[in-house]
Amino acid sequence: MIEINDLHKSYPGTVAPAVRGLSLTVDKGELLVLVGPSGCGKTTTLNMLNRLIEPSSGGIRIDGRDIRDDDPILLRRRIGYVFQDAGLFPHMTVAENIGVTPRLLGWNGDDIAARVETLLTLVKLPDLGSRLPRALSGGQRQRIALARALAARPSIMLLDEPFGALDPLTRDEIADDYAKLHDDLGLTTVMVTHDMTEALLLADRIAVMRDGVLVQTGAPRELIGSPTDAFVARMIETPRRRAQRLAAALEEPEA
Ligand code: ADP
Ligand code: MG
Repeated sequence: MIEINDLHKSYPGTVAPAVRGLSLTVDKGELLVLVGPSGCGKTTTLNMLNRLIEPSSGGIRIDGRDIRDDDPILLRRRIGYVFQDAGLFPHMTVAENIGVTPRLLGWNGDDIAARVETLLTLVKLPDLGSRLPRALSGGQRQRIALARALAARPSIMLLDEPFGALDPLTRDEIADDYAKLHDDLGLTTVMVTHDMTEALLLADRIAVMRDGVLVQTGAPRELIGSPTDAFVARMIETPRRRAQRLAAALEEPEA
């Protein structure tokens, strides 16, 4: 469970804060999608959850503990992070990339090798352990980034626009696979996207951000049924109109 309490972040030398007064609880086992336009503070929020960025004020508790009281390396074990651009180490093989956190935690070589094998199978790329990242497709890279984030059996997963750069077919495939992994492994997930369609399809609950502020939180149905303001209504309108046009295009012509 993640509890975020009145979080603020101002970067030095900037006028408007990147995140303002964000309070949010993510329940254990929940898949929360944080959605909003580019620059609204999504990555900043994720980075504060993972202690890559220090908040200006406010607090974060994970499973009841203030993350400032946690050893940073142990926090890495509890939280898996998938970066916006996969962020694989280019000079390391796929297997070495996946083993990074277990190595940091001092696991022995046999345990790491076994874990890497398991994860490669889990993300459906069993034969790619000895490849370098540059010899992978975009979709494969994202799957390996996912495996790396899962390596130390975290209870929390943070994903920053993980499928944004992929072609639609690959994106849907990996997104569905991730949703299943999330359920099977009992993970608590915060996934970031600017794509409301993706949010509506994947989320247990959606949190909409605008200009550093959380404007509405609710299940997809609640957002669709009662958007709190014109901004949320507009974000919902595009996927709705596309769905209607698609439904019309797919309709059988009258005989
Ligand atoms: P998002 O991920 O939603 O696109 P970000 O969290 O990356 O948004 O950025 C939020 C705001 O903070 C933007 O206005 C961005 O320009 C600014 N910002 C992000 N990182 C820095 C930084 N290191 N220094 C100064 N400003 C930053
Ligand atoms: Mg971002």
